Amino acid sequence: MRITALAGGVGGARFVRGLRHHLDSTPGLADAEVTVVANTGDDITLFGLRVSPDVDTLLYTLGGGVDDTQGWGRAGESHRVQEELAAYGARPQWFALGDLDIGTHVVRSQWLGQGVPLSEVTARLAARWGLPERRITLLPMTDTPVETHVVVDDEAGGERAIHFQEWWVRHQASLPARRFVVAGLDRAAAGPGVLDAIRRADVVLLPPSNPVVSIGIVLGVPGVRDALRGTTAPVVGVSPLISGRPVRGHADACLAAIGVPATAAAVAGLYEDFLDAWLVDPADADTVLPRARVEVFDGPLLMSDVASAGRIAEHALRLASTVSA
Ligand code: GDP
Ligand code: CA
Repeated sequence: MRITALAGGVGGARFVRGLRHHLDSTPGLADAEVTVVANTGDDITLFGLRVSPDVDTLLYTLGGGVDDTQGWGRAGESHRVQEELAAYGARPQWFALGDLDIGTHVVRSQWLGQGVPLSEVTARLAARWGLPERRITLLPMTDTPVETHVVVDDEAGGERAIHFQEWWVRHQASLPARRFVVAGLDRAAAGPGVLDAIRRADVVLLPPSNPVVSIGIVLGVPGVRDALRGTTAPVVGVSPLISGRPVRGHADACLAAIGVPATAAAVAGLYEDFLDAWLVDPADADTVLPRARVEVFDGPLLMSDVASAGRIAEHALRLASTVSA
């Protein structure tokens, strides 16, 4: 079985880790191949280093090196380099860069500087984290550098665009977002293998990733949406909202910026043209969709640990076998 998932950072990574756990502990499913198409709109250059926050969260989570309490970054991390940068007055200081994490960014930047495409760089990083042995292929959505920016009001009564990370990390999404602009996305080409992974999958899963700035950005890569509409695989999504609240992060602020209500039904509406089934929390059991089947999970739709994420993934897979594309 070939399973393809589109993913952002923490929500996507925890879901795919649970999925892999379920597959590996189920007779007959252990040899299933999982391909993850990762959002690269969060990417940013800091201190000359190219940082791919969602890809890194996927690498560390799926490779067993993540700081599980915060959901991103390396376990056992220290921040000596960042302290040194601060002592020099180097900016910015609002983005946490751990010492171990910096190793990833240095090697990524070195390879990119040698002209190695991001997809190949990511494959090399994934090899170090043992993803191929775990039957996980990690694909950046595109090799083209793209960056999500957020348009906010400026002090002079006009507007200015800031990098998504500045809005999310520095301002904790507290500045009202007027809209999102993804620099480079219109000229981006889907990364090697991305469209095929969607078209040739047996099942396509949408983890509970941020629908606007994670999955929404992947959907903006030319060809991805068409591939989802055209694939013969059922497309099953897991709601990132429970009773209108994102479990973590600021998905509600992102939805507000694009004028979409923060409900499980409205998020599914963003995927209406290709979604076949939608798994929701019992609190959202009243969700009705015009086209996709709605399924209520038998417990909180919370990925509290690997086992609970595995049960959600298992349910999503079972659902996929009951709907047709
Ligand atoms: P990010 O890039 O690190 O922000 O991670 P993602 O975009 O992959 O996922 C973030 C989204 O996942 C959040 O907006 C939440 O709505 C959702 N999320 C996180 N944890 C859970 C969970 O345990 N259950 C559900 N249903 N959604 C979750
Ligand atoms: Ca992200």
